[in-house]
Amino acid sequence: MVLECKHVWEHISGYLDGGLDPEVLRDVQRHLDHCEICSAVLDSTRNILILTADERVFELPVGFSERLHERLDRAFADGLVVE
Ligand SMILES: [Zn+2]
Repeated sequence: MVLECKHVWEHISGYLDGGLDPEVLRDVQRHLDHCEICSAVLDSTRNILILTADERVFELPVGFSERLHERLDRAFADGLVVE
């Protein structure tokens, strides 16, 4: 199964906390290996998680994925600025 970027984004928080099924994890990993967009998304998501960990809050903030998607939409609207 070939994942599209938007599918990978849905799995990123699970990817980072190790909550994905092995099959899904493999597909996500394979996608990340060749997709710069999703690699950048993964990096910025990881940064967000590090920030929340610093505040000793280990759960994702409410609305996390919505905000991430808004951010991605903006990135695409801006011509995909990779931070
Ligand atoms: Zn992708």
